[in-house]
Amino acid sequence: RLYNELIELRGNIRVFCRCRPLSSDEVTRGCLSIVEIDPSKETELQFAPNERERKSFKFDYVFGPQKDQEVVFSETVPVVRSVMDGFNVCIFAYGQTGAGKTFTMEGVPDNRGVNYRALEELFRMSEERSESIAYSFSVSILEVYNEKIRDLLDESDEQSKRLDIKQSADGTQEIPGLVDAPVYNIDGVWEKLKFGARNRSVGSTNANELSSRSHSLVRVTVTSLHLLTGQRSKSHMWLVDLAGSERVAKTGVEGDRLKESQFINKSLSALGDVISALASKNSHIPFRNSKLTHLLQSSLGGDCKTLMFVQISPSSTEAAETLCSLNFASRVR
Ligand code: ADP
Ligand code: MG
Repeated sequence: RLYNELIELRGNIRVFCRCRPLSSDEVTRGCLSIVEIDPSKETELQFAPNERERKSFKFDYVFGPQKDQEVVFSETVPVVRSVMDGFNVCIFAYGQTGAGKTFTMEGVPDNRGVNYRALEELFRMSEERSESIAYSFSVSILEVYNEKIRDLLDESDEQSKRLDIKQSADGTQEIPGLVDAPVYNIDGVWEKLKFGARNRSVGSTNANELSSRSHSLVRVTVTSLHLLTGQRSKSHMWLVDLAGSERVAKTGVEGDRLKESQFINKSLSALGDVISALASKNSHIPFRNSKLTHLLQSSLGGDCKTLMFVQISPSSTEAAETLCSLNFASRVR
């Protein structure tokens, strides 16, 4: 309860910025860091490609290169916990390819990210509350590529089936046929996440490259039964690793690559439009402009909690893309 009250005070939409360290390759190549973060200011960063173009940006939280997964999760956990009280939650990672989206969400085997830690927290809370509330959890894993939805937990065939969004009677969005796999413990979740990741790369010659051009979504469904009152509730937590936000060069790109990038631009700007419309409390929210926002419609707005990680690279070589991401973030905040 206390956590939710805190979130209420700070609004339902939060934007965090995370800047990764310079990679060893970048250091070798002599790239410089153009992002300045004063460790005593937790909400501000300076974009400083040179003295003339210095610009300051404010966020709900700024994680510099030295902030580890645990610190990041400690700021994320209040949003995660609210799904246990019946709120719908969306957590996004936005940014150009290589900026650290997957590192933040999935993490690496010996240093796990938000997805794993969030599920761990849900099981921990379920245990803690087991005397008064019976919780159950299930997960779906899907991908949106070129405005098509694929079920990554579908075991029925190699070529995962295509899915569509249907409006149900109560006005929420449903995805008929989507696998919703019950999970009973964190190991079970891990198995599903691994299965989804394997399925994702089926049919692509370069899994890494494909992953940068599709949105990857994990949906956790939390169902609860209050043992005293008999009250039931159901809520969703979406964990979204977005497609790379980099713009492709306007010339020299054609065919499939051009089509892909147009779909990505369209869905990322639709997401930006929806979140900024929600933040400014507009009456019309343009959910239907992309598969991504349509899919997430019931989990965005109202009393849903939204958290966006804007991931950036500190490298001087990425200045233009970094500025684009920072500007995107300012628009949604
Ligand atoms: P994206 O998913 O945005 O394309 P990745 O998450 O794959 O980017 O990150 C690119 C590389 O940088 C990976 O090797 C990743 O392990 C590393 N990396 C990203 N963020 C961090 C961080 N905060 N600390 C250490 N390494 C990071
Ligand atoms: Mg990635």
